[in-house]
Amino acid sequence: MTRTYKEKVSFIISKRNIIIATFDAWDNAAYVGKAPELVVEDYILGTDIFFFIHDDSTRMYYSAIFQKCRLLQASHSHEYRCDSPTHKRFMKMVLNPCKNGDIEINNYLLREEAFDHTVTIYDWTQRGAPNLVKRCSICNKLNLKNQTDWIEPGELSKEKAQSFLVIHTVCPDCKDRGWKKVLASA
Ligand SMILES: [Zn+2]
Repeated sequence: MTRTYKEKVSFIISKRNIIIATFDAWDNAAYVGKAPELVVEDYILGTDIFFFIHDDSTRMYYSAIFQKCRLLQASHSHEYRCDSPTHKRFMKMVLNPCKNGDIEINNYLLREEAFDHTVTIYDWTQRGAPNLVKRCSICNKLNLKNQTDWIEPGELSKEKAQSFLVIHTVCPDCKDRGWKKVLASA
């Protein structure tokens, strides 16, 4: 990939999905993402990557992609969002399989776009509150209660966006583009 990105964060997972190495701008990215505990190498290295993914849909999404990479020995890439409270962050993930079953996972920050107002979203997935608004962990869109549409987080009113609780899943569009397609081709 030519250098058209602002930041790159990479790591390697073993064939058992354990994080065995981190490199590039990992420390910086962890801070930007407001997750300072992630800079502690002891915490990251040796940990199963699925430990950091708390909902079944997102686990299924990534497990299908990992499986495809390993079985076909083929690279895979998809775009996703990793928004901060102030910015939409447009990302790309590129997975490269290694011969021994390891996978190198590169995350590129392609561009950032400021929200009109701050959007502070808290992940409540682990507390198990099924009535909460769903947020797609791939595109970051939100599925408000009793609505069929998935909306951009920037569409939340300024008031609501000050402190918004969500549980994570994968929206139908991302499922169609992601693991459903992957499973069909694997
Ligand atoms: Zn989505």
